[in-house]
Amino acid sequence: MGTARTISRRALLFGRDGGERARLPQVLRPPWALGGVAFVDACTGCVACVDACPEQVLVLRKGKAVFDPERGECTFCHACVDACAPGALRDGDGIPPWRLRALVDDACLGARGVVCASCRDACPQSAILVPPAARGGARIDADACSGCGACVAVCPTHAIRLHVPEETAA
Ligand code: SF4
Ligand code: SF4
Repeated sequence: MGTARTISRRALLFGRDGGERARLPQVLRPPWALGGVAFVDACTGCVACVDACPEQVLVLRKGKAVFDPERGECTFCHACVDACAPGALRDGDGIPPWRLRALVDDACLGARGVVCASCRDACPQSAILVPPAARGGARIDADACSGCGACVAVCPTHAIRLHVPEETAA
């Protein structure tokens, strides 16, 4: 079958796997994007979604729309979907916007004994647990995380990335 590495349920739930997967490059598509090749085929690079996004978190890379959480968070306002005439972004009614979840790696200051709660304070879902007195790194509750990306740019050590947990990856 495949060569993909299996992540433990604990790593999945708490968004930690030693940082290995966090360093793997992953193209993040806009919310409600068609899956994989279907999106690439449908996206014409017209930038309608980029222009429509009030958070300015969408950009065009290699001629296709990409979500860049380093620019801020997605508020799931649906404006990009409404603007996408080619239909590369699906109707969001009842469909989850994506399966992205935050992942914290070992660059987290808390894991190095330094007090920091920037990500926790930025999270609209209250999905981040920061142990008191820097007794460990930030942990993500993957069930609560929406993958909005609000925690990504605020991290002073760039310890947080978004990824699709392997257990649910297509
Ligand atoms: S849902 Fe709204 S905030 Fe999120 S990428 Fe689309 S336009 Fe931007
Ligand atoms: S991606 Fe959004 S919901 Fe998930 S932990 Fe970060 S701020 Fe919270």
